Amino acid sequence: MTGMAKDLHPTTDAPGLHVNGGSRYTAPTGEYACRCGASDSAKGDTAVTALVQAYGEHKASHAKEARR
Ligand SMILES: [Zn+2]
Repeated sequence: MTGMAKDLHPTTDAPGLHVNGGSRYTAPTGEYACRCGASDSAKGDTAVTALVQAYGEHKASHAKEARR
């Protein structure tokens, strides 16, 4: 299983947020990776929503640092 679906996952080389909405039978999942090396993942509606929010706040904290 090498080289399969690798681009779908954010890494520190290609930072970003990736959310999979899930289906009737599978819970939604989400993961993010930041250029600074921070990364996290979550599974389930509530956890993914919190992850998206956390990633937004994480990016905002970098924006503040850059402004200094
Ligand atoms: Zn970061």
